[in-house]
Amino acid sequence: AKRIGKSNYQFYSESMHNKIPGNIELESLLRKAIKQNEFSLYYQPQIDPVTNDIYGAEALIRWENKELGLISPGEFIPLAEESGLIVPIGEWVMDEACRQNKEWQDKGYKPFRISINLSLRQFYQSDLVKKLEQVITKYQLDPQYLELEITESMAMDANTASTILHDLKKIGVHIAMDDFGTGYSSLNNLKKFPIDHLKIDQSFIRDMTTDADDRDIVSTIIMLAHNLNMKTIAEGVETKEQAEFLHSIKCDALQGYYYCRPLPAKDFLDYLTEHS
Ligand code: C2E
Ligand code: CA
Ligand code: CA
Ligand code: CA
Repeated sequence: AKRIGKSNYQFYSESMHNKIPGNIELESLLRKAIKQNEFSLYYQPQIDPVTNDIYGAEALIRWENKELGLISPGEFIPLAEESGLIVPIGEWVMDEACRQNKEWQDKGYKPFRISINLSLRQFYQSDLVKKLEQVITKYQLDPQYLELEITESMAMDANTASTILHDLKKIGVHIAMDDFGTGYSSLNNLKKFPIDHLKIDQSFIRDMTTDADDRDIVSTIIMLAHNLNMKTIAEGVETKEQAEFLHSIKCDALQGYYYCRPLPAKDFLDYLTEHS
């Protein structure tokens, strides 16, 4: 029995090894993925709890590889960031989100903002502004319909970050601070940055209906944001109770499985058709 156990163990570990490649192998697969266009964007709506209208949508990258199947961004974004491959990947995301948004607008759907996630490396690329301007011009997209999400940890170098953010605002795009409350925010920076949206991290939303401290934190973030002329988006809204509470404390937009999972473009269009 012992011998069988051991060979079983070896069998499983070998097959696991085949399925989950090491970083070097994953990196070369990632390089190929860029060339062979294995990425797609999923879209998750953000809902205005007052009108139930679509407030915006977040674009979330997906990687589908023939052998590995669907690989979540949590698995490959860190490696892409480390290897620098995030730069071409991020440019693709930028292009595709703008192209798709313009296509929906041209089809006659009421325009809404699409937000994309920027990585640390992308945010500090010296030609970020130029690249964005090129994409916006290419698709003739009104820049107010594009939002860039950054995180607090990306803005640690507050002076540089502030300069970049002001340059981005000059193009007319919107800025969101993602995962708010989990990083090293200085309220002083928050005041200086030209931020349109604070996205309240899902960890606060998750326990809100059972944890009074989380409820207080969320209410306080919303009041702070409103006092600083920013709007708030709650992430990870999964239940009716959470949605109702967030509505009652004037959260401006709600995003999460309670309303809709991230959907491929084709399915998102069906969602738009049903909800407009
Ligand atoms: P994020 O920006 O915080 O995105 C929100 C994540 O929460 C998404 O995971 C989304 O699918 C998930 N989510 C949405 N609603 C709910 C909910 O009700 N409950 C729970 N538990 N989760 C929910 P996803 O798509 O796996 O993305 C993970 C992270 O990968 C993102 O976190 C973001 O940091 C990064 N990412 C995704 N797309 C891109 C991209 O195009 N570029 C870059 N640089 N990063 C990306
Ligand atoms: Ca995000
Ligand atoms: Ca987030
Ligand atoms: Ca996150």
